[in-house]
Amino acid sequence: MNSILEKDFQFATNFFNNAIKKDKLFHSYLLTGNNNAAKYAFALNIARILNCTGDKSEDCSCLNCKWIRNNSHPAVMTFSPIDFIHVNDGGKAKDNISVNQARFIKEELNKTSTYHRVLIITDAIEGKEAEEGYLELKKYGIKAPLEAGSTDETERIWAPKSLSVNIFSTETANALLKTIEEPFENVTFFFLANSKEDLIQTIVSRCQCVNVPSSPNKAKDYSIIEKITKNFPAKDNLTAVMMADCVKNISKENDISIQEVLELIENYYGENISNNLGNTKNYRTILTFLNKLEIAKSQIERYVNPDSALEILFFNEKI
Ligand SMILES: [Zn+2]
Repeated sequence: MNSILEKDFQFATNFFNNAIKKDKLFHSYLLTGNNNAAKYAFALNIARILNCTGDKSEDCSCLNCKWIRNNSHPAVMTFSPIDFIHVNDGGKAKDNISVNQARFIKEELNKTSTYHRVLIITDAIEGKEAEEGYLELKKYGIKAPLEAGSTDETERIWAPKSLSVNIFSTETANALLKTIEEPFENVTFFFLANSKEDLIQTIVSRCQCVNVPSSPNKAKDYSIIEKITKNFPAKDNLTAVMMADCVKNISKENDISIQEVLELIENYYGENISNNLGNTKNYRTILTFLNKLEIAKSQIERYVNPDSALEILFFNEKI
């Protein structure tokens, strides 16, 4: 499965490989982007790399890799309103992630484990409405998580869905926040949402945000964004306005959407950041820019005037 994943999401994969190598792994990540299956498959792949006892390669056949490919690893758990039903009140699927699930997570993490535990928090759907997403998961060679206690051998038609702000009650959110803040060792949380706005800010602020692009595998010709990368970061307002204009021109000249231009820029700096993890100043500048880029993208998606969204993006208040 990983050959597709690692090729398609090279930036995100490099980013994590570097973080793992340099022991700079955060406690919790928010994976954003519009392709829910890709984000889920990506999180599982990182879980695999973290738990592999072999060579970490895409076709590694160690027990952990096999388990994770089968989505049945005891330390790699998916939490959604329809998963881990046994800890939901009454054993029924709910509309949101319950406080009992949040408590279960805490209890689980308090137990000792030799594994690197990975908790994937997502919304999910099953049955007919999940068919499309399920096929998408298949493309990545991913299976749906096992239903707790289920002995049903027929495969479940399941697909991840973006979290939304109402997914946690205040009580659940508070319980989760406390757990995220506890310094458990070898524990990584992945929250999956389309954009930062889809998750409550108290959780977002404790996550590092990583974009898993929605339209991967397009030829990454960075030469078309050269005018932007050469002038980055904008030294004054005039340059910021020029860079915003550039984005619009690149979009017109290459017949791609403004979103796609922004994704190209995002990929470029994403790769840049993963190659320069040691350079703190550069790292911070780019990280701030990538966060602003996420905001610009979701603003444009919400029909905010692209001119102002782009100017704010390139305007660098510190210079
Ligand atoms: Zn392995």
